[in-house]
Amino acid sequence: MNNDYLLLTPGPLSTSNTVKEAMLKDWCTWDDDYNLDIVQAIRSELCSLATSSPEYTVTLMQGSGTSSVESAIGTLIPNGGKLLVINNGAYGARILEIAQYLNIACSALNYSETQLPEVKDVEAALRSDPTITHVAMVHCETTTGILNPAKEISAVVNKHKKVMILDAMSSFGGIPFDIADWQIDVLISSANKCIQGVPGFGFVIAKKSLMHTAKGNARSLSLDLYAQWQTMEQHHGKWRFTSPTHVVRAFAQALTELKLEGGITARYQRYQKNQSLLVEGMQALGFKALLPKELQSPIITSFYSPSSPDYDFKRFYQKLKSLGFVIYPGKVSNADCFRIGNIGEVTPQDITNLLEAVTKAKYW
Ligand SMILES: *Cc1c(COP(=O)(O)O)cnc(C)c1O
Repeated sequence: MNNDYLLLTPGPLSTSNTVKEAMLKDWCTWDDDYNLDIVQAIRSELCSLATSSPEYTVTLMQGSGTSSVESAIGTLIPNGGKLLVINNGAYGARILEIAQYLNIACSALNYSETQLPEVKDVEAALRSDPTITHVAMVHCETTTGILNPAKEISAVVNKHKKVMILDAMSSFGGIPFDIADWQIDVLISSANKCIQGVPGFGFVIAKKSLMHTAKGNARSLSLDLYAQWQTMEQHHGKWRFTSPTHVVRAFAQALTELKLEGGITARYQRYQKNQSLLVEGMQALGFKALLPKELQSPIITSFYSPSSPDYDFKRFYQKLKSLGFVIYPGKVSNADCFRIGNIGEVTPQDITNLLEAVTKAKYW
């Protein structure tokens, strides 16, 4: 049951034994034992985690997080719409790539991976191109761990009466905010990030008014978000195609455990504690974080690779793994880095143990 190493990676991540145990049974979706109520309970719980406003609705979608992003982009932008993508990392770039695959008109505001997007640039882009109908951005850009100013940018997008789509894949459930307060029209996240479930589905939390206009827009059959939503609404939580039953049971357990921990605020505090312990400890060991503290999220941290010619990521990685910790390679294009995640079933004590392991694994 127990792993011999802890995943310090931002999804899949380390889950509790009780979340894993929830999957030790085969379920039949149309049998009463499975209880479709579980899907409706999950949908309503996700809604209340996202906002106190009654204007939103949740649709679950099979696949990895990208499937949910693709289903939202492909279903909520009508024919003739145009998407502006705010891009400062691999996941922003992925949204752009999705739009291009789906033949959706798009433009991009590109930044370097260590730069915060600026409100004034978004304002200028919206002023200069009135054909833009939708704006998409990533909240925590997992490429680096940078936390983008979603609230401020969303305010400008709303002022211009455009639809705001937020990829909050790696932040939702780990950073407290209310999507109605932030004027987010569409939020996308997945089961295996801060809610601490296992991979297999994602979800889209969107304004009901927007979902009602989305019929017939989808560019894909299986990723038709509107059709999935209608099926869930009209058939008491039924998925259109085979549902990831084990993942759903595990997710329900993960939601219960989020509540037991004290909700999103308590989880945020744990992640923050993990992150600050990590950075302080790594600095003491001679490592330098890529981002200044002000830009850093509590989700994942990028560190510069040591400059020693003897350093080799694979060797460092293998040593750490043998000591019980799995870290992540870097994803930054203009700097040699590796990453360490703080999310999942990971405690400050685990971080302290990790730092001891890093001391042992530093062979150079
Ligand atoms: C994890 C993640 C995704 C989705 O990635 P998948 O590999 O498809 O699950 C999208 N955006 C961000 C910001 C992420 O962290």
